[in-house]
Amino acid sequence: MYRKLLFDCLRHSCCPNAFVAEETLPRKECLVASCDPSITLPEDSAAITVDFSTLHISDGWQGFAHCTCAAPKCRRIITRFEYLLFPIQKGYFDSKTLPPDAVTAYAQLRDLEMPPPRDIEKLFTDGGSDSIVIRQLAPPGVEVRACPYGMAMYSTAPFRIGETIYMGRNYEIPNKFATWTLSIYPTGSVRRNAATDCLELDLRVTPQQCMQDTATHTVEFTPTRRWLFIFDGHMNHACDPTVYSNPLRPEVPGQEEGGILVYDTKALKDLRGGEEITCDYNVFEYDCKEKGIPKCFCGAPACIGAVRGFRFLTKPQRVARLPFVDDAVLEEMNEDEAGDTQWVPMTKALADNPNVAATQEPPGPGMCTTKIRMTARVNIEEGQTIFSAPRFELREGTNYVIPSFANGRFLTEIPPMPQFSYFFVKALDKETVNAAVSGTEKDLFELRALTNILAGSDIRYR
Ligand SMILES: [Zn+2]
Ligand SMILES: [Zn+2]
Repeated sequence: MYRKLLFDCLRHSCCPNAFVAEETLPRKECLVASCDPSITLPEDSAAITVDFSTLHISDGWQGFAHCTCAAPKCRRIITRFEYLLFPIQKGYFDSKTLPPDAVTAYAQLRDLEMPPPRDIEKLFTDGGSDSIVIRQLAPPGVEVRACPYGMAMYSTAPFRIGETIYMGRNYEIPNKFATWTLSIYPTGSVRRNAATDCLELDLRVTPQQCMQDTATHTVEFTPTRRWLFIFDGHMNHACDPTVYSNPLRPEVPGQEEGGILVYDTKALKDLRGGEEITCDYNVFEYDCKEKGIPKCFCGAPACIGAVRGFRFLTKPQRVARLPFVDDAVLEEMNEDEAGDTQWVPMTKALADNPNVAATQEPPGPGMCTTKIRMTARVNIEEGQTIFSAPRFELREGTNYVIPSFANGRFLTEIPPMPQFSYFFVKALDKETVNAAVSGTEKDLFELRALTNILAGSDIRYR
């Protein structure tokens, strides 16, 4: 009854000015605001708003299709709490602005939803359980359903170019699970069926036509491990895709291995709602092997014909995909003895470095350098190490490399050279040199200040 009363009286906002602590909210405040826009509020009272999502966790509430709260960070769709992106959920937890029963409900839900990967693996390996539930409903604005060529993901709401459509979460699983079958049922979970040795994935789809093999719907990223994507394992390839996903990162910072990995899936073009959500498989796989698509029917003018992985792309095709290609793909490329392209994985150390700020200029035609302009963030003293970073050895006969900085990547042709250090901010004039590179260990080099360098000054070395 009480909750019903709140609903009649409060407005929703994605950036609310109040929250519901059920025991303490004075009832009279409920009457200040109204959901009905035709009712004029008293001049001296501001509308009291709450985030309706915080009031609905794991219940049957269907939410509202669209939000018009006009908050700068409006989510545009009002949903149950469990469908919010994790950082938003965490924000409500951290600020303790969830109703107490919601905190409990959500804790239970999270336990159910994504069990720790080690538990999953143990249960699968031991065969101790025939029912492991990984509950992962398709997020709002997205649905998975049968299409004329199998399963597909569709948008059900509009998204703007660059907008995050959802934050995905996935598991690392051993390769042996690739032999299992992925079945899809209407209500939303993945489980192992001991009788059939199948991974069963429940989604809001019809139970027929939904058998998929796990090998196809996971990504092998080492000879022994693969990523299991849950609902979005059914995203189809297109050569002119509608979305991309940024690099996988651990959900719990620092937990690089054995944890749940998360990634943001963003719109590459404006979506009205109803379009198929597609990605380019070439950015996830260096070599698709048996999973390749011999003939692509995506219908794009720029269709590349066959989808076999990054390895098989032409140079222009690779260049076009560089902003999106996964690091694991580039690492595999570096290990390919027959490959003519090497990636220089580098600048995380620099990007996070407290001493320097760097900006990158695109390389000029035929140049072997990607120019990085480096400036001091702080005052650096003579003799101080500015940073140390990996040294990258080029294989003989390699004719181009991909230097990367922060999120930028460039494909650059270079003449064969034995070694490539990626800071080509060289001083032309001897007088202006203020730093020097020195080797420390075989695989590391460091840059040291030769003089005192004031914050904001360029760092230049020979
Ligand atoms: Zn809103
Ligand atoms: Zn195509």
